[in-house]
Amino acid sequence: MILILFGPPGAGKGTQADYLKEKFNLLHLSTGDILREEVSNNTELGVQAKKFMDSGELVTDELIIGMIKNKIESTVNVEGFLFDGFPRTISQAEALDQMLDSSNKSIDKVISLEVDDKTLIERLLARGRSDDNEETIKNRLEVYKNQTLPIKDYYHSKNQLVEIKGDSSIEEVSSEIEKSL
Ligand code: ADP
Repeated sequence: MILILFGPPGAGKGTQADYLKEKFNLLHLSTGDILREEVSNNTELGVQAKKFMDSGELVTDELIIGMIKNKIESTVNVEGFLFDGFPRTISQAEALDQMLDSSNKSIDKVISLEVDDKTLIERLLARGRSDDNEETIKNRLEVYKNQTLPIKDYYHSKNQLVEIKGDSSIEEVSSEIEKSL
């Protein structure tokens, strides 16, 4: 099974990923988590990514796609993948389709978590990660609308998209996701 968790920053992708990966034995690939690990290990990739992350801009497609390729190719013995925070641009979505195509795999569902801006900002400020300050959050939501949201149409036209209300309780959201699969 190959799933994508889609939605703005603060939509609850990480929380739902924790549940879904256990339930279906999927490898959870969060590009945000992988990047933060690279930053804390001070790797070359981390150094390059950090300046984008601190300002709420997207890391370049080239870095992200290379990183995901490595992870997919070095993984054995999983029943599928759960992508979280990736793809975030149309180019990344196309690159993912190509990678999967070449191993005769395809995306089963793209789960879009729908949450309004006011709730997102409240959640992010409460979380308090280093890039969760008001200035950076505003930019991340802008970047999301301009660069990431167009992906919804891409997946909708391929009949892969499901929209789930993301502002109810964690358990309710999980159960709605499961029903949609
Ligand atoms: P959130 O979804 O809460 O904004 P993430 O943890 O997914 O945060 O990502 C944090 C930062 O890492 C992003 O603001 C961006 O700079 C970078 N990043 C993560 N995933 C990607 C991606 N697929 N493409 C480009 N940049 C990314």
